Amino acid sequence: MNTKNDRASWIKGGNANCSVPPGFLRQVYRFVLMGAPGVGKGTQAELLCEQLHTCQLSTGDVFRAAKSLCAGERTPAIESALGYMKRGDLVPDETVLALVGERLRCLRCHGGFLLDGFPRTVAQAEALDKLLEREQIGLTAVLNYELPIEQVVARLGGRRTCSGCKAVFHVATRPPRAEGVCDQCGGNLFQREDDRAEAIRVRMEAYEESTLPLTDYYQRNGLLVTVAAEGSPDRIFERTLVALKGQH
Ligand code: AMP
Repeated sequence: MNTKNDRASWIKGGNANCSVPPGFLRQVYRFVLMGAPGVGKGTQAELLCEQLHTCQLSTGDVFRAAKSLCAGERTPAIESALGYMKRGDLVPDETVLALVGERLRCLRCHGGFLLDGFPRTVAQAEALDKLLEREQIGLTAVLNYELPIEQVVARLGGRRTCSGCKAVFHVATRPPRAEGVCDQCGGNLFQREDDRAEAIRVRMEAYEESTLPLTDYYQRNGLLVTVAAEGSPDRIFERTLVALKGQH
């Protein structure tokens, strides 16, 4: 049986229903997920969903899915959001909050949630607090994955992408059989501009600068759980569970 939820209620909004409705859960987890690019946040999100049966709600995924809609199917808010996204800018708080507000039933869902990429600003966090308070829902924790910049550079800096099929390799952890050649299609492997050390440092600094007020905010609320993102994904996940137990 396919137990992977397609998250239709979140991705499509409106009256769309998820393919796998949540079952009965003794403990419902409601998380906000934070972490700079390259810290392994995506893998931890997968593990959290698999093991704690929570549902990954990414605002970026909603915008990406909207890209493939034809112009007539997009609301004006989504249309304007896509413009910001294309330019690499953050979408205005108002638009993001409208999108989340239209998906309140995902926050109410008794399968729990793992908010990914939202909130991104203190204004969004305050608005989320108000929404949750109105719904009488409490967050379990804000999981903040941290990794020293040198290790992020090592992880992302070793990445090689196929110019043909876009498969991703890593010189140390997932090397191709022949250096510089894609195992799958024989295409040339190259290093993406934004995987170069200097670009990674710029991205990390920008991330830290923009999220510092948010981590401070959740620290003050007593919800911030910082997890060292070093070692294997399983090890990081174990550390997450230990940190959650020690939270209260
Ligand atoms: P992500 O996949 O989370 O990196 O999001 C991709 C893009 O979607 C971002 O670069 C923004 O343009 C937009 N976006 C997603 N979530 C938000 C948010 N909470 N606030 C503002 N912009 C967002």
